[in-house]
Amino acid sequence: MSLSARPIRARFDAAALRHNHAVARRHAGAARLWSVVKANAYGHGLLRVATALREVADGFALLELEGAIALREAGFRQPILLLEGFYRPAELPLIARYQLIPALHCADQVGALVAARLPQPLPVVLKLNTGMNRLGLDPGEFPLALERLAASGATSEISLMTHFACADEPAGIAAQMQRLQAMTAGLRLPPRSLSLANSAALLRYPESLQPAEGGGENWARPGLMLYGASPFAPAQSAAVLDLRPVMTLEADLVAVREIAAGEAVGYGGAFVAEHPTRIGIVACGYADGYPRHAPSGTPVAIKGRRVPLIGRVSMDKLCVDLTGCEKVGVGDTATLWGGMAGNDVPVEEVAATAGTIAYELMCGLAARVPVLDTE
Ligand SMILES: *Cc1c(COP(=O)(O)O)cnc(C)c1O
Repeated sequence: MSLSARPIRARFDAAALRHNHAVARRHAGAARLWSVVKANAYGHGLLRVATALREVADGFALLELEGAIALREAGFRQPILLLEGFYRPAELPLIARYQLIPALHCADQVGALVAARLPQPLPVVLKLNTGMNRLGLDPGEFPLALERLAASGATSEISLMTHFACADEPAGIAAQMQRLQAMTAGLRLPPRSLSLANSAALLRYPESLQPAEGGGENWARPGLMLYGASPFAPAQSAAVLDLRPVMTLEADLVAVREIAAGEAVGYGGAFVAEHPTRIGIVACGYADGYPRHAPSGTPVAIKGRRVPLIGRVSMDKLCVDLTGCEKVGVGDTATLWGGMAGNDVPVEEVAATAGTIAYELMCGLAARVPVLDTE
C-alpha cells in the first residue's frame, strides 16, 4: 500500500544498487570502496541504501553528522568518513563517540582537533587541494599540518584524500595527479591510505586507484555510479557501463483528452497543437522533483513507448502527447526516469534535456513522493 493516495511513487531497486556496487568493485581492483551516501544517499534514502549495501560496503562516506550517527545507531559497523570533517569543534566529541573519521580540510580544523584533547586519538583523513580550489590544504600548509597532527598524538592514523574537478571532462585528472605527486613525494610519514577517485575516475583512470606510497590502501569514493547513472552521458550511457537505475520515478495518467488543432495546453499556452492531439495528464510535477525546465519533447515512457512531454511542467502535473497511443488511458503508468529496459528513460537524458545533471534530479526527489521497494 502506497503512503499517499496520489498515484506517484519512486521505486527503489536494491538489487540494482548491489549490482552497481559490484561493477564498482570490479573497476576498483585491489582498492576499497567508500559508498558515498551524502544528501540522503543522492535522494534514495540513507538507511534504505545503507541497508541494501550492508553486506558488501567497505565503508560509507557522507558529510551530514546526523546521518553518520543514524548509521551507527542502526548498527552499521563499517568505517564512516565525514567528507567535510566538522563545522564546529563542539562536534568532535560526537565524532569520537560514534567512531567517525573526519576529513580535515584546513589548518583551523587541524588546530581544533589538537586543541580538543579528546580522550582517545582519532583516525583522520587530510584533504589536499590539488586544483579543485574549494576545500583542502594547499601545498604550502600541508606539511606543517601533517607534522602538527603527527606530533600532537591526537590521531591514531592519518590518510590523505583529494577530489577531482574534471574526471568526467576531457581535461581529466592528469594535472591534479601531478600536483598530488608533488605534494606527497617523499613524505616522512607514509599515509595509512589514499582516497582519490569519484565515480568518473574509478571508471576511467586506473592510475587514481594505485596504493599510497609505502603500500597503504587506496579507497575510491563512488557515488553517482552506485545509483546507476553514467558520469559520461550521453557519450557513454549507463547501460554501456553496465549500470542499472536504482530509482524509477513513475506516476499514473489521471486524465486523457482530445484537443483540436490550434488549442493550447497548460500554463502560458506554451504548447499549441498543430493537429488534433490526444493529451495525457500525468500526476507528477515540479513539486515532486521533476525539473520545471524540461522542455516540450522530453521523453516519458508509457507501456514500452516513448512519448514527448508537451507544454510547461506544473507543480503537480505534466502533460504528454499520446497521439497514436490509442490503447493508453487513465490509470496507465508513465515512467519519468529510470525503469526497465524497453520502458525506460535514463535520468541522465531527462537531466540533459532540462539543462541539468542526473545528480540534481535524484537529490531533488521531493519528500512527498513515497518510495517503494522493488524487491
Ligand atoms: C560527492 C563526492 C564523491 C562522489 O562523487 P560521484 O561523482 O557521485 O561519484 C566523492 N568524493 C567527494 C569528496 C564527494 O563530495
